[in-house]
Amino acid sequence: MQTRFPDAVRATQEGTAVERIIRKCVHCGFCNVTCPTFQVRRDELDGPRGRLYQIKNAVETGVVTASLRTHLDRCLTCRACETTCPAGVEYGRVLDYGRELIEQAAPRSPGQRLLRRALREVLPHAGRFALLLRFGRLLRPVLPSRLRELIPPTRAAGVLPTRHHARRMLLLGGCVQDAIDPRINAAATRVLDRLGIRLETISGVGCCGAISQHLTAPDEARNFMRRNIDAWWPQIQAGAEAVVVTASGCAVQVKDYGHLLADDPAYAARARRISECALDLSQVLEAEDLSGLKPAPGTPRRVAFQSPCTLQHGQRLGGVVEGLLRRVGFELLPAADGHLCCGAAGTYALLQRELSQELRGRKLASLAAGAPALIVTANIGCLAHLQGAAAVPVRHWIELLDPGFG
Ligand code: SF4
Ligand code: SF4
Repeated sequence: MQTRFPDAVRATQEGTAVERIIRKCVHCGFCNVTCPTFQVRRDELDGPRGRLYQIKNAVETGVVTASLRTHLDRCLTCRACETTCPAGVEYGRVLDYGRELIEQAAPRSPGQRLLRRALREVLPHAGRFALLLRFGRLLRPVLPSRLRELIPPTRAAGVLPTRHHARRMLLLGGCVQDAIDPRINAAATRVLDRLGIRLETISGVGCCGAISQHLTAPDEARNFMRRNIDAWWPQIQAGAEAVVVTASGCAVQVKDYGHLLADDPAYAARARRISECALDLSQVLEAEDLSGLKPAPGTPRRVAFQSPCTLQHGQRLGGVVEGLLRRVGFELLPAADGHLCCGAAGTYALLQRELSQELRGRKLASLAAGAPALIVTANIGCLAHLQGAAAVPVRHWIELLDPGFG
């Protein structure tokens, strides 16, 4: 794509990088074929190529419109377009740039600003979110179905192992996951314990920063990242092998700390090191001998796997979980269009309800084709979103390997 960015934009590091990325685009349109919003809306402006063009146009003319905001807001940040693009266009970086442009130049309505602020005040704070969820669960029986489906039933974490092992890894506890489903991190701790690894939760670690990042509050996101780095760093220096993340949406964010804090002289080196030692849970198990892991009695064997975008596109780990589950004896049922987003996409399910529900309906229909007993996934956002309308239980895949499955 030809560009003529103004000199003032070219003078910034990010402006230069964004122009370089946009110039790689050869207009082929392959990305539209795998873009969920283009597939639903059939509108060039709601596909990656069109969004790149709109951002380029806004930078060159200095005119940032409400229309641009609408089309960028509809983007799921799923990055399926990056996986497809033959020219290696890093669409996500251009999108981040475009979104920051909008926040500065095309302010939202007071109602929209309030909603986004409320989401930022609650979701990244584990204590506040847990309190709200507890309240929601109390009221659940009298709520309309639209709200009821957002409130999952309570689950118990189960007993945690107490054995010490020479090998130690650090767990990102996260923000909403433990309140929604405390069994996921507990199951990961039990499974790694069987493999001779102690998974430790470090006090002071919280939200990875992804929620603030997606709600275009990058400074707030960086503060969450710095806090986590401060908490993990002494443990990394003391020999902890890795930072393990059980939610693929958070894993992709932690792996990006090095890039997101590259301009912070006090944190850049440590952020890079944390990113290097961050592992999605599937990567930890992939490197281990799993011959001692057997599914617990009563664990369904015929399952469908929903591969989150943050796993297959964000981290490029497509096929890893499927391979692991087959190694320990599960039958993975085929599901069409596995590359397409389920519509959860962080806060997207709350902010773009219509598109999100359409994509969820399509995803559940393809997952149900093989009549699975269970749907498994790798990200808490997808899990909660799919569970709201699924005909069978939806779980994190690590639970299939948990000796306490139930
Ligand atoms: S990130 Fe996803 S929704 Fe957004 S343009 Fe790319 S493929 Fe489409
Ligand atoms: S696939 Fe890549 S090169 Fe082709 S139109 Fe999309 S962004 Fe441009």
